[in-house]
Amino acid sequence: MTRRSLGALLAAVLLGSALTTAGEAAARLRVVATIPDLAALTEAVGGDRVTVDVLARAGQNPHDLEIRPSLMVKLRRADALVVNGLDLDQWADAVIRGASNAGVVPGAPGHIDASRGVPVLDVPAGRVDRSMGDVHPRGNPHYTLDPGLAAVVTQNILEGLARVAPAERPVFERQRQAFLERLDGAMPGWQARLAPVRDARIVVYHNNFVYFLRRFGLTQVGTIEDRPGIPPSPAHLARLIGTLRDGRRPLLVVAEPWNDQRLAARLAEEAGGRLVVLNPKPGASRGGDAYLAAVEANVEALARAMRRDPS
Ligand SMILES: [Zn+2]
Repeated sequence: MTRRSLGALLAAVLLGSALTTAGEAAARLRVVATIPDLAALTEAVGGDRVTVDVLARAGQNPHDLEIRPSLMVKLRRADALVVNGLDLDQWADAVIRGASNAGVVPGAPGHIDASRGVPVLDVPAGRVDRSMGDVHPRGNPHYTLDPGLAAVVTQNILEGLARVAPAERPVFERQRQAFLERLDGAMPGWQARLAPVRDARIVVYHNNFVYFLRRFGLTQVGTIEDRPGIPPSPAHLARLIGTLRDGRRPLLVVAEPWNDQRLAARLAEEAGGRLVVLNPKPGASRGGDAYLAAVEANVEALARAMRRDPS
């Protein structure tokens, strides 16, 4: 095939797909979320009235995303942007500047900060400086991992989407309500399956799980990182292992896919604990299902580690 005919074919294909989707796409809001949890929760509220794109994909550390032009392209034509806030996704500021989209800059109707009204944990008491590592100066930003805060987060998303598309508010409200009912239905099961994990001591690689652990009454006894975002010092690790070694309660060491797995596994082994990897890549589900599946996967991984099942 010549280059010209290939080009013509490609144009025809693109035109064809543009024509078939133009009707629905015109009615849909284009929303971008910074992290996968927020993308899923936005789909839960927006349903088929939105198309949601995500900047930091699952499996990418949401703390320090590399800013690429492709991210700015995603945001250029967006009607709304959902950010985590609390300085987790500060890199979004550079993406916003690069996208030159006045509709999604901070203060614009299409800029949705999902953290509004979240009761923030771990707010540093004193002054924060770089020598302390990547400390989140406004408190722990990892609230989306707690399904108990989904009501607050989806309320923020609903308000934001309704600012951009006021006529759709009743639809968003209905969809949010339906999602929260399913979440509430799943909550007692999660609580029950995590009840045995309350006997365990939990060490986390990075301080990502305070909201989740608190929701389910689980006990965090240490972090592998002594300064957030910085590889731990040998002295800290030795001290940590020393404090963990002769505990009578079971020990679970929690890491995420982007952490140093070998280090986490070594620590678990030396301290007599079990390694649990949370936040796996989500499966094929989307929207509210994807959010519920992500919580489900974390619950199951912890419960399984506690049962000491082989896989
Ligand atoms: Zn963090």
